[in-house]
Parts: sequence; structure tokens; C-alpha cells
Amino acid sequence: MTDMVKNGMVVSIAYTLRLSTGELVDASPEDEPLEYLHGADNIVPGLEKGLEGLKIGDKRDVQVSAAEGYGDYDPEYVEEVDRADLPKDLPVTLGMTIAVTDDEGWIEEAIVREISKNKVKLDFNHPLAGQTLNFSVEVVGIREATDEELDHGHPHGMLDEDDDEFYDDDEDFDDEFEDEDDEEA
Ligand code: ZN
Repeated sequence: MTDMVKNGMVVSIAYTLRLSTGELVDASPEDEPLEYLHGADNIVPGLEKGLEGLKIGDKRDVQVSAAEGYGDYDPEYVEEVDRADLPKDLPVTLGMTIAVTDDEGWIEEAIVREISKNKVKLDFNHPLAGQTLNFSVEVVGIREATDEELDHGHPHGMLDEDDDEFYDDDEDFDDEFEDEDDEEA
């Protein structure tokens, strides 16, 4: 029986990701494919759906709407904060990504959209929010996930090592600021 892409399978894909402008924003070549666990939300929902049922060697162009990709762009996710609330030693430049901790301790990344003397506008939308995603994908590998991988919800590397650190990105950021109410408003 030939393996098919379905829930519980670890799938390796080579792909390119282009925006509707044609701009290439991400890619994984055949010799360095992306490995993911199908059905575990490792990749955007629209792409997961588009790959369902494919076999090794199959190629497919998958167009994913923003809603099934990184979400629609939401202007409410743009927040103005006091510059004084950002770490003093952090050089803030336009377009940079900074990590901030919210009230519940979650790390969120934001893009700096505007800088004025005392204020900084932070955009918490995903950088690809609002974009139609055009994937060109080739399936280069399919195997059954191990019990441990199913339990963790992600594949482990080919070297038989646990990649948990790779998936746990909460540890490396210690830039924090308190999100205080805007006193001048
Ligand atoms: Zn793991």
C-alpha cells in the first residue's frame, strides 16, 4: 500500500511560497524539506487541506486564502505604546520585529510600524496576515508518526533527537514591557 498524506503521518515537503505579487517569501528545497505532522496544525490550515491524499512525488499548486493562512489583517492588533515602556537598551527601528510579553505572560511578536518622539506603534498581526498564499509543493517523504511524535504534536528530527527546543520558542526572549493604559488618552 502506498503511503498517503493523512492525519498521523509525518510528511516532508519541498515548497515555495509566493505572494500574489509574485514575491518569494519562503522556500524549502528538496534536499532540505520541511517536515511536519499532518493534522496537528504544524502548517497553515489551507495548505494542510490542499495536501490531503497526496503521495510521494506528487506536485501541487495550493492557493490559500488569508483566512485559511495567517488570518485576515486586523487593524485592532496595532497598538500605540509609550517608548518609555520598552526596554531602555533596546534600539527601536522602523520595520524591526520585537518580542513582548502580554499581561498573561504570552510572548508575542510585533512589527514596529511608526516611531515618534514618545510613542511607538506596534503591529501584532502576523507578517503574512491578509495575504493570499501561493504554495508550489512537492511531497518528498511520508512516514507514520511515532507514538511520541503523536503525543507531542510535531515530528522529531531524523537524527532521533527530540526537537522540542525548536518548537518551544518561549525561552529566548526576555524583552518585556508592561502594557499600561495610555495616560494621555
Ligand atoms: Zn517533541
